[in-house]
Amino acid sequence: MSSVSLYETYVRAPIRFERGEGVWLTTEDGTRYLDFAAGIAVNSLGHAHPHLVEALKTQADKLWHLSNLYDIPGQEELARRLTEATFADRAFFTNSGAEALECAIKTARRYHHSRGDTGRFRIITFEGAFHGRTLATIAAGGQAKYLEGFGPKVEGFDQVPYDDDAALKAAITEETAALLIEPLQGEGGIRPIPDERLRAIRQLCDDAGILLVLDEVQSGVGRTGKLFAHEWAGITPDIMAVAKGIGGGFPLGVCLATEEAASGMVAGTHGSTYGGNPLAMAVGNAVLDVILEDGFLDHVRDVALVMKQGLAAIQDRYPDVIDEIRGRGLMIGIRTVMPNTELVGAMRAEHMLSVPAGDNVVRLLPPLTTSVEEAREGLARIEAAAARLSSSKKAISA
Ligand SMILES: *Cc1c(COP(=O)(O)O)cnc(C)c1O
Repeated sequence: MSSVSLYETYVRAPIRFERGEGVWLTTEDGTRYLDFAAGIAVNSLGHAHPHLVEALKTQADKLWHLSNLYDIPGQEELARRLTEATFADRAFFTNSGAEALECAIKTARRYHHSRGDTGRFRIITFEGAFHGRTLATIAAGGQAKYLEGFGPKVEGFDQVPYDDDAALKAAITEETAALLIEPLQGEGGIRPIPDERLRAIRQLCDDAGILLVLDEVQSGVGRTGKLFAHEWAGITPDIMAVAKGIGGGFPLGVCLATEEAASGMVAGTHGSTYGGNPLAMAVGNAVLDVILEDGFLDHVRDVALVMKQGLAAIQDRYPDVIDEIRGRGLMIGIRTVMPNTELVGAMRAEHMLSVPAGDNVVRLLPPLTTSVEEAREGLARIEAAAARLSSSKKAISA
């Protein structure tokens, strides 16, 4: 039995971090790590960003919590800025990604219900998807490893293969309310939906009279070099779930929707005790101050290009370690030849953090504030990690 009185749901790396600054984390014993995991795409502005620290401290002196029984000016402000910057007209704030998805799913079902189309409640999702760990979102994600042992799967989710358009079309019935997808799968292994296909999917939804719901919990808020990943394809969804990067490390999510898609969500249909809490709003607004600054997304794209070129060169030198580089912006996947956890381990030995994903991929999700020099430092460490695996493999076969 473990000596720690926690659920044993996580297999944790035995490293204890004490503080962070930008892209760097420091352990209790003073070892510095380059953090290209960023709390799984959460620390969008790195650790201890002065503007975020200031925003949180200032709000902490005023008010922590009110409930949604009263006006919260920070919510109105953040909702106004998010709707001005996106397709959306309405926002509902949550504390996590899964809750933003729950709100998105409820909004889509309720839309059809409020129009008298009460039989339309089913949601189509893609194989390899990840939408969270609540009972509805594990049903939406459809992954057996997350569903097993938790009783009957929540009804109303139909999963289709990742790249089978015929199966997708065939799955749409008169009971279908919406299609829910990540424009760029995160946990599934940094698997992008080509722009052209996303446009075709938008058209398919329009033709079938169903809503397009995007999960941009991981790909959103500047991660791919646009404010949201779907912008690359030039389409807009009807509903979108956002979290992770929007809070920069403070628990915050949001469900965004058009006026029409949100029309069924009238008084009393949904709620959250903490959602939109003044502390979260102060931090969310501070994150947007930085990300919406002129030139910020250009910086993300510049650093992403350095990473892309550097990784391609490393792949050329170590084809026995790296099989493929993919992704967009600073949402990067390295598909490895050996089990992906070996590269994650070798990088950790080089004092660099990354995240394993599906399809044998190692995810790089550095803070969006990572500088070109820090990106080059990261590349040097990845190269050293690849060399470890490459030579150790040769040593074994020799
Ligand atoms: C992380 C993630 C979620 C779940 O977010 P939580 O905050 O863990 O509930 C949902 N969708 C995607 C794409 C994610 O990456």
